[in-house]
Amino acid sequence: MKKNAFLLAIICLTSIASFAQPKMIAHRGSWKNTQVPQNSLASLQHAIKQKAWGSEFDVHLTKDNILVVNHDNDFYGLDIATSTYNELLAIKHPNGESIPTAEEYILEGLKQKKTKLIYELKTNRLSTERTLEAAKLSVQLVDKLKAKKQVEYIAFHYDACLKIRELDKKAKIHYLNGDKSPSDLKQANLNGLDYHYNVYKKNPTWINDAKSLKLKTNVWTVNSEEDMRYFIDHKIDYITTDEPELLNSLLK
Ligand code: MG
Repeated sequence: MKKNAFLLAIICLTSIASFAQPKMIAHRGSWKNTQVPQNSLASLQHAIKQKAWGSEFDVHLTKDNILVVNHDNDFYGLDIATSTYNELLAIKHPNGESIPTAEEYILEGLKQKKTKLIYELKTNRLSTERTLEAAKLSVQLVDKLKAKKQVEYIAFHYDACLKIRELDKKAKIHYLNGDKSPSDLKQANLNGLDYHYNVYKKNPTWINDAKSLKLKTNVWTVNSEEDMRYFIDHKIDYITTDEPELLNSLLK
């Protein structure tokens, strides 16, 4: 009997310990060690294979209102905000893929349920108006694809975060820019902070402040083992990394 109680205690402690571990988010998919282009469908497929909790991707709006997935404002030299989608199709990723639309990307992610799709809405370089238009089109797209359960939004543009909240009361939205305190984000009815690691190091109470406000905490972009251990020790909720294999090995 005593032995059973002891075993039960061990199982409980082990499950609590694993529960408290941060979850891994692959930054722009898993591309670095798999040698595929960032933000390609292939990078998403690798992140899913590696059992990432989430796979992050960046979304821009073309001149003709198509949401496309790419990090920079330009796709191999062609400016996205002032180009049409057809013009962008003239250029390919080195692996032969075209620039994915956000729709293609989400549909690829929806082939499974375990890896969340962390949708970064990029600030449009032309105007706030275009950024807010992109926010509206993004919410409409996620709704149309019935992807609400699997998509979480992140953005540097604060008003874009507020716009998404206005359009979807239940969406999970995390702010990226690092200049709002956890209580500011709580007041704005956002779900959490997703900040550069230096912001947390400069504001050492923010992880716990956020937890006490029931906000989620995510940190980017954590690529060294030392920084990963720091945030694992500080019990952050999510770690966004270009090194998913390394973080997976530390979390095991
Ligand atoms: Mg991003």
